[in-house]
Amino acid sequence: MALPGLSSLHLSFFSSPMKYIFVTGGVVSSLGKGLAAASLGALLELRGLSVRIQKFDPYLNVDPGTMSPFQHGEVYVLDDGAETDLDLGHYERFTSGALSRANSLSSGQVYENVIRKERRGDYLGKTVQVIPHVTDEIKDRIRKGGEGVDVLITEIGGTTGDIEGLPFLEALRQFQLEVGRDNVLFVHCVLIPFIKAAGELKTKPAQQSVAKLREIGIQPDILVCRTEYPVTGEMKQKLSLYCNVPPQAVIECRDAETIYELPLALAGEEIDELAVRHLRLESKVKPRNLAVWQDVVRKLKFPASRVRIGVVGKYIDLQDAYKSVYESLTHGGIANDCGVEIVRLDAEEIETRGAEAVLKGLDGICVPGGFGDRGVEGKIAAVKYARENKIPYYGLCLGMQVVVIEFARNVAGLEGANSTEMDPQTPHPVIDIMEAQRTVTAKGGTMRLGSYECALTEGSLSRAAYGKPLITERHRHRFEFNNKYRDTLVKAGLRIGGINPQSDLVEIAEIPDHPWFVGVQYHPEFKSKPTAAHPLFAAFIKAAMQRKRS
Ligand code: GLN
Repeated sequence: MALPGLSSLHLSFFSSPMKYIFVTGGVVSSLGKGLAAASLGALLELRGLSVRIQKFDPYLNVDPGTMSPFQHGEVYVLDDGAETDLDLGHYERFTSGALSRANSLSSGQVYENVIRKERRGDYLGKTVQVIPHVTDEIKDRIRKGGEGVDVLITEIGGTTGDIEGLPFLEALRQFQLEVGRDNVLFVHCVLIPFIKAAGELKTKPAQQSVAKLREIGIQPDILVCRTEYPVTGEMKQKLSLYCNVPPQAVIECRDAETIYELPLALAGEEIDELAVRHLRLESKVKPRNLAVWQDVVRKLKFPASRVRIGVVGKYIDLQDAYKSVYESLTHGGIANDCGVEIVRLDAEEIETRGAEAVLKGLDGICVPGGFGDRGVEGKIAAVKYARENKIPYYGLCLGMQVVVIEFARNVAGLEGANSTEMDPQTPHPVIDIMEAQRTVTAKGGTMRLGSYECALTEGSLSRAAYGKPLITERHRHRFEFNNKYRDTLVKAGLRIGGINPQSDLVEIAEIPDHPWFVGVQYHPEFKSKPTAAHPLFAAFIKAAMQRKRS
């Protein structure tokens, strides 16, 4: 009889060429594990390997789609419509591997699947348990997540010692036993705190978090030390001794000026070389050439020019609420060899202090996505200010909808025009709930999500920026441009920059009599990379540079 977990399917993995890297974190959260995973992925790609990165999150929500920005930060959307953790954004920005629903797993999904199987009778009367049923589900997702690539990197969210993370770590332990120690690399990220009163870095929390992992049966192979100050050779020796990791595999990862320095910093510590050797990939790889990342970092640190871009939002104190928007604006700068100073502005402050007081002195204004009516009048006022003062404007999702509302009210003379999201009784619902959304009551995963086509209008700013007639972009919304108002608004001077050819939904609204004014119903910020800026972000920054010059 086969041992539990060692079915023929599993045994076939003994000979599998696939390699697995698991990234865990200890001491505290927000260590930048996701960035470390993404940077390691980038370096392995430079060595000629195909890489995919995925995230396992121990929380019980099925996905972060229903979580508040205060809890979770940005919800990152994939082509297939999966609503995922923002770390997937880092993975896509740093590597070229295409990600899908298969690359984002939460405990909520694991338990949902296990319970569905139990109700279906799949377990044939057995007692359903964390080991093996929950851990089997997790291992299954490790196998599926990496199909077709040389190396699959899986980041485990949370911190070692969390109760909810235990089934994931147990699954990793089992997995390495099944596929063999040479095929699995454990990377553990820890904080090395600086204690001011003592004037020194302390290794004890790192030691204890590694001890926690070893208790479960996981021995890290590489220890990534997040630190504000240099980790000395002596400290590396100490960490090596206490954590049972070779000293050369104790890697310093110091705070950097920009996150895009991380691949260079980790390359300096030879993390990719350690990984390649541990995973016996020497014969498959080539020497790395870091030029692309060096170029990105040079343009970020020493740009030829600079612009100030205001981002008008509601969560300006949260680092992560508009993560991809901030990153993509930076990419637009890199594409133009221009430093982008991002000024986070509070839409509600525009309501109380007026647009001029808050928005003067900017070279460009961006309104990102959003939900609900809080702050929306401030965003509409920002649109009006940008339109009247000829300041380059770029609206994303809700940022496009407020363009339509402002134009309807103040140019087309449709008094009281609004979105029915903000005012269900509006006399002019220029933005209205999508037909397909009217009967939807469940909240999770029910918006118009993921990739849809957009046919661009000849002669539009968007067509010029993309340089091609048909594009696909990712969506996450319930409301849409109301086509009943299309003729009226176009007659008043609004330009429809693009439509979805299948549904005739308006995807882009532009204002022609203006240096650069584009609102898009989709989320271009999910498809921009430091090494390949999204064309609209690049065009927006270019317009801001022109305004600054004139
Ligand atoms: N709240 C708007 C809608 O649901 C916009 C959504 C967004 O900006 N992501 O249509």
